[in-house]
This record gives sequence, structure tokens and C-alpha cells, in this order.
Amino acid sequence: MTPDFSPRKAAFYTLGCKLNFAETSTIGKILSDRGFRRALPEETPDICVVNTCSVTEMADKKGRSLIRRLSRQWPSATLVVTGCYAQLKPEEVAAIEGVDIVLGSNEKLRIAEYLDRWEAGHAPIVESTRAKDITVFRPSCERGDRTRYWLKVQDGCDYYCTYCTIPFARGRSRSGLTADLVRQAREAAEAGGREIVLTGVNIGEFGKDTGESLLGLLKELDAVEGIERYRISSIEPNLLTEEIIDWVASESRAFMPHFHIPLQSGSDTVLRLMNRRYDTALFASRIAAVRRMIPDAFIGVDVIAGARGETPEEWERSVEFIRSLPVTRLHVFPYSERPGTAALMMDAPEVAPAERHNRAARLQNISDGKLEEYFRSMTGQVRPVLWEHVVADHNTDNLPSERRLMSGLTDNYLRVVAPARPELINTVSRVRITGIDPERDETLTAIHAD
Ligand code: SF4
Repeated sequence: MTPDFSPRKAAFYTLGCKLNFAETSTIGKILSDRGFRRALPEETPDICVVNTCSVTEMADKKGRSLIRRLSRQWPSATLVVTGCYAQLKPEEVAAIEGVDIVLGSNEKLRIAEYLDRWEAGHAPIVESTRAKDITVFRPSCERGDRTRYWLKVQDGCDYYCTYCTIPFARGRSRSGLTADLVRQAREAAEAGGREIVLTGVNIGEFGKDTGESLLGLLKELDAVEGIERYRISSIEPNLLTEEIIDWVASESRAFMPHFHIPLQSGSDTVLRLMNRRYDTALFASRIAAVRRMIPDAFIGVDVIAGARGETPEEWERSVEFIRSLPVTRLHVFPYSERPGTAALMMDAPEVAPAERHNRAARLQNISDGKLEEYFRSMTGQVRPVLWEHVVADHNTDNLPSERRLMSGLTDNYLRVVAPARPELINTVSRVRITGIDPERDETLTAIHAD
């Protein structure tokens, strides 16, 4: 291989959601168009880009400590901080020693303009647009790994759930145009992508601002040749219509039996306090529709433990509801108070931080049980897998090649390992699932069935 003597090197750090990861990849592309290459782990970068999250107080804290560590580790690098924490608290971020450029949500993907400005005089830059003035949809479709792309179809949110800062961090809901998104999907297919994950903040709102529809977009994407799989990263239960579920179940070629649906609480009182747009009856009916039409679907569900108003009675009600749901796994978050959110003004009892964590642990237990049950129900099944890579970990490093394993995801989002056949990487083939892998977390073992 010819050594790469490109003089400028960039390092990227991402916290938070899939949308952030997609946008970091786009920033990587923008910098590579300007002659930067990705710094190797042992190299000193010329520029560090940190794409932050602010979904919880812990996310802010992680962002601060990462920024401090990078500024100590690479004092000569230009340190750019962007993302939701930078949007919500630009001055606080700018005050951290070593930070050179702070870019809000609207400025994130215009990093090239700000680097020009920085290079002209090395004067610190702090730019962020007020969330209510962010109106432009900035596209992003980038490769996450060898097999998978992230396609941003929507940004921002108009829902104003009382606990959430995202509408303040990302602005109002806005969508891409179907024709542009289909073009990006075609380009991803031409570049060898096999799977596309649709990302956004509130994807179900796609098209409300442009007169298009989410189902229309899904149908157009489904027809793109070369893309064998799509997933919707997350969709609000009130926006995951039975029409969409039915289409995925009966007509779609490439949308996978996999849904991620935020619940947040199993108590109607708490859902009302949260300003969510559904109640438990609607949520249960959407889950039942998925199970009826796509029995093997993987269903991931977000839940917040210990939100304001979650009295011991509401908490028990919530646990009972969640326990009764035929879902695959929970993503559990202890409630985090966020400055500026309506939850802080509510006249509703607070849950002590330690109790929030206790409740989260109880939900996690329920989740572990559901996931194990789902895993067991898959044993013996034949499923298609998109192969990603040959496994390289401490269990396999010293194995002869005929005993190596490779890893991929099934259609219904199960991580499986099977004997390595490297020629199958980035292709789909069928496996028979043989059991739960004792060596690797949340992984199943399989044998080739093709
Ligand atoms: S739907 Fe609610 S929780 Fe989700 S981003 Fe919008 S305001 Fe936040």
C-alpha cells in the first residue's frame, strides 16, 4: 500500500444518537474534500471535531470531560465542538480551555466556512443560530461501516415533550425531499452499501413541511436497486400507523422486521405530564399490530424511569404495563432534569435520583428477561444475515483461520456469529441459529444454511 503523506489529519468523536453519528460522517467527508485524512490512533491530529449530545446531564458531563481530555492530549490541534451541547450552551463550551471553534446545530455541516475563517486569523469562533430560526434541512448520507449507511431524512422536532431539550437544540421539524433522498440511496448502493438506516429526530413527521408522506418515501426507497435492507432508526408510536406496519409486513421488499418505538412511561398520568401524543392503549395497539402482522419482529422500546409525577402508584402501574408488552427489549434511561424544560415548572412530585436509578435497574431486569426469551424463541430458525466482518477479539485472535468466526445482523436485528467465510462479507446469506453465544454479549451462534 502506498503510504499516505497527506499533511493534515482529523480526529472525530461522537456522543449521542445515530443522527449525530451520521452527521459526524458527513463532517468527515467535508474535511476529506478539503484534504484532511482521518488520523490513525497513534498520530497527532491537526483538528479534533467533537459532536456532542445533551439529552441528559450525564451527556453534558461526558462532553465536557472529553473536550478537556482532548485539549490536554492534543494541545496543538484545532478543537471544534458542535452538536446539541454546543447549541444549547455555546458560551459554556467556548469557556472550556483549548476550545477554538463552537458550532451550533445549524452551523455543524457548514464547518468548511468556519475553518476558512479560523485559518484566516485563528480568532475563536462561537456561532449558533437560535433554534426557532433554524429552518434549513441539511442532508447527510454517510457510511457507518462497510455494509451500512445512515440516511438523514428529517431533522428537528415540534413535539415539545416536557422533559426534552431536543426541540431547543435542533430546531423545528423539517424534512428532506423524497427525490433527493432516493438519489442519495442510489449513490450509497453504487458505492457498495447494502443497508440503509433512516435517521432523524422525529422521523414520523417526515413530509409534514413539504407535502410529502413517510409511506411515500418508504415506497420509493424500497424500489432502489442494490439496497437490500432498510431500517427506521426510531418512530413515535402515534406516527407508526397500521398502514405503515401493514406495508412493511406485506408489500415491502427491503424494510426489515425491526422497529424502535419510544414509550417513555407505562402510566397514562405520566404520559400526559410528559406531553406525549398517545396513551398506553394506543401504544399497546401498535405493538399488537406489529406482532399480528410481523410475528418475529424485533421491537425495541425506550423508557424513562423516575420522571416527575411518577408516584409509587404510577410507577407500579407503569411496570405492569411494560411487563405485559410483547416487546423484545427496553432501552432504559433514568430521568434527568434538563434546564429550560417545561418539566421543571410542573407541579408534580419529583422522584429522588437514587430511586430513579433503582427503578431503571428494575426495568433493565424486565428487559433482560424479555430479550432472553426472544433469543430462545429464535433458536432453530433460519434467518438472512448481512455479514459485516470477521470477528477479531481476545477469544479468536490466536485461532487458526478455519476456526475463525464472522459477525453480522439478521433481518430482525440479531447479532450472530458463524464460521468465517470472508467472501460473504457485505452480502446476505442464510443461517440456522443454534443458540446464545456464551462468549459474547447479546450474540447468537449460527451455522450456514446456504
Ligand atoms: S418527540 Fe419528544 S422526546 Fe422526541 S425529540 Fe421530540 S420533543 Fe424530544
